[in-house]
Amino acid sequence: MSLLVVGSVALDDVETPYGARRSELGGSAVYFSFAAACFGPVRLVGVVGSDFPAEYLERLARRPIDLAGLQRAQGRTFRWHGAYEGRMEQARTLAVSLNVLGGFTPRVPPAYANSSYVFLANASPGTHVQVLDQVAGARFVLADTMNYYIENERDAVLGLLPRLDGLILNDVEALQLTEQPNLLAAARWVCERGPSCCIIKKGEHGSLLRGPDGVFVLPGFPHEAVVDPTGAGDAFAGGMMGYMASRDEVTPDTLKRGLAYGTITASFAIEQFGPAGLESLTGEGVEQRLADFLRLTHLSAP
Ligand code: AMP
Repeated sequence: MSLLVVGSVALDDVETPYGARRSELGGSAVYFSFAAACFGPVRLVGVVGSDFPAEYLERLARRPIDLAGLQRAQGRTFRWHGAYEGRMEQARTLAVSLNVLGGFTPRVPPAYANSSYVFLANASPGTHVQVLDQVAGARFVLADTMNYYIENERDAVLGLLPRLDGLILNDVEALQLTEQPNLLAAARWVCERGPSCCIIKKGEHGSLLRGPDGVFVLPGFPHEAVVDPTGAGDAFAGGMMGYMASRDEVTPDTLKRGLAYGTITASFAIEQFGPAGLESLTGEGVEQRLADFLRLTHLSAP
């Protein structure tokens, strides 16, 4: 399996109704990698500053996450400060300090250039283009984007679409990017601009896929114990891409099953602060919860 992710590696300050954490291990590439690592090895391309704790590198290295593409730059690590209130549907970003991510030029190690599956996790569209130029032979490239880049670099985000196989984003971002009246129209709008599939995440309400053979929807995994939703979207993408890369197949069926695996890995991410809920997760744990999920949605024949 050759799965590569490029994205942020962060120190997060997070507040939820269940408590607060300071300088927690975070970042889009981190959540993605922990989730995908349940299915096989992951290659991470990103950057940290000189303040990044060695203990966090050890946590990543404990899983099959290859850090040869993680640059260590002089300066401070990217920092995000977010808060969730009430039903915790949407993070309120209180502060973003790009720090070393601001001057980041991704370098894909030569041994990674043959990666078949590539996830462009939240990072600037300029970073995404630089990675695409280095993985020309990839079989399936999925990109994420978010309000920060839609607001600040919308044209660059749109310019990426023809080079992607898939775009994944949440419901609010999908409407913001496409300016369409509903999610089905938004997914169609995206697919008319290049990607063969578009995945829209709807938080606790599940997800929607528009793919080569039409539309597919899944509910979320019903969860009473949501402690910290940070990274749910990246953990979703990690489960989905990890599964597809492990099967090494891009078909309507693996896309739909990928959606189910993403639902399951995201449900583990939100059970604890930071990525802890994913770090101890095994393939067996994923399969058990998937079986529960399928039971919850199965209707026997009349
Ligand atoms: P998610 O909750 O899946 O959207 O991802 C949350 C993670 O995204 C956090 O760990 C943050 O460190 C990271 N993040 C937040 N803002 C940005 C940004 N502008 N660029 C890259 N990563 C970000």
